[in-house]
Amino acid sequence: MSAELLVIGGGQAAAQLIEVARQEGFAGSITLVSEEPTLPYQRPPLSKQFLAGGHTAEWLLYRPADFYSKHAVDVRLGRRVQEIDRARCSVHLDDGSSLQFDRLALTVGARARRLEVDCDAHDSLFYIRTLADVQGLRPRLQSPRRIVIIGGGFIGLEAAAVLVQLGHTITLLAAGAEVIPRIATTDISGFLVARHRQHGVNILLGTTVTALRRRHDGSVAVETDTGAAHIADLVIAGIGAVPNVELAASAGLACDNGIVVDTFARTSDPDIVAAGDCTNHPNALLGANLRLETVHNAVEQGRTAGATIAGKELPYVQAPWVWSDQYGLRMQSVGVLDGFNRTVLRGDPARSSFSIFYYRDDTLLAASTINQPLVFGAVRRALNHRVALSPQDAADPRFDLAAFAKNPPQLNFDVPWPTRYEQQQRALAWGHA
Ligand code: NAP
Repeated sequence: MSAELLVIGGGQAAAQLIEVARQEGFAGSITLVSEEPTLPYQRPPLSKQFLAGGHTAEWLLYRPADFYSKHAVDVRLGRRVQEIDRARCSVHLDDGSSLQFDRLALTVGARARRLEVDCDAHDSLFYIRTLADVQGLRPRLQSPRRIVIIGGGFIGLEAAAVLVQLGHTITLLAAGAEVIPRIATTDISGFLVARHRQHGVNILLGTTVTALRRRHDGSVAVETDTGAAHIADLVIAGIGAVPNVELAASAGLACDNGIVVDTFARTSDPDIVAAGDCTNHPNALLGANLRLETVHNAVEQGRTAGATIAGKELPYVQAPWVWSDQYGLRMQSVGVLDGFNRTVLRGDPARSSFSIFYYRDDTLLAASTINQPLVFGAVRRALNHRVALSPQDAADPRFDLAAFAKNPPQLNFDVPWPTRYEQQQRALAWGHA
């Protein structure tokens, strides 16, 4: 009897996992169970082009609908797995049915963190996490609205950029002194805040929301710890994401800020893999464990998990990266800032084309770039291959980063074997990655 793979959760990690499992020779049956009523779709456009309107749900699909039939995947949409019984190799669904599995994949993602304040205006409070969230929000945007956005992360900034350009009046309340504090320092944050203000977004930093109160005219008073209240027709909260670990934890799988997996996406039960926003995984390049909420992570770790399902070893060892589009600016960040003690500027913020490199002494840790994709690509390759890029070269506009990026990587054999393997694989693909 052939093996049965059951995939729980229908995001990009799931589709990528299935694709690679089949490519790598997994011939057993595959069932995909997803709580969402839609085939796996791309989330990044939800706070960008899709929020702006003019695109259909089909446009968002990560793989066309016939991908699943071509790969012989039994897709069960709108169904929630309530329990995993590892002893019996079965799961129980919310319609009372059960499914058996030989191999299990958890691509259960994360959910929007909910705003926990005194609130009597829930029907005016929106999140941007799922297709259904944005489909519920868009009809409310037909005429100019006063919108308060809570949170200075990616959702908040991207939604502010889209909505102010659609003619809405936007106030953005960020709790911290910076926006996107996890991946950017004052230079990038300040640049973005200034750009938003130029476009008319009223950004207030260091402001925490304390209550949402319905007013007599149907609007909402967004009360803050500064004593000010901001009047809104709609409120959008983008205050982070919470990994969906409950199913794994109740099945006895190790969880610690995410489902704990190894470099091959194996959980504490080697017959169960996990990938995407829900995992806490080791990164041999950084010597640290990470939980990432990025598409890059979903896709690449999904690929690794799919290979593992097919009995192949494809270690997941890459520098994490993200991108964001706001007002025609392309921001790209790669690496992890933790532990930096100096920054280096390349380019000119006044020309909206610059990069900030983050170093621990002379060791490059990360970079954030604005409209400098070539710099981003060079840093990404340097980090993935552990090729040194000195602060002097990084800052020097005469130093040819394009040539640097095209040179074959120096293999560093003084690193753990998964990293070495990955380096060798990437060296083979150099110039094509
Ligand atoms: P996010 O990027 O993590 O930002 C959330 C922000 O809200 C953080 O600055 C956080 O501050 C702040 N915050 C947390 N709790 C708060 C509270 N109770 N009141 C006010 N502010 C609070 O999360 P997001 O913008 O909601 O996006 C959700 C997920 O989607 C994230 O993982 C994000 O990376 C991802 N996403 C990515 C992109 C992209 O890569 N372009 C686009 C959209 C969404 P602290 O950091 O101090 O906690």
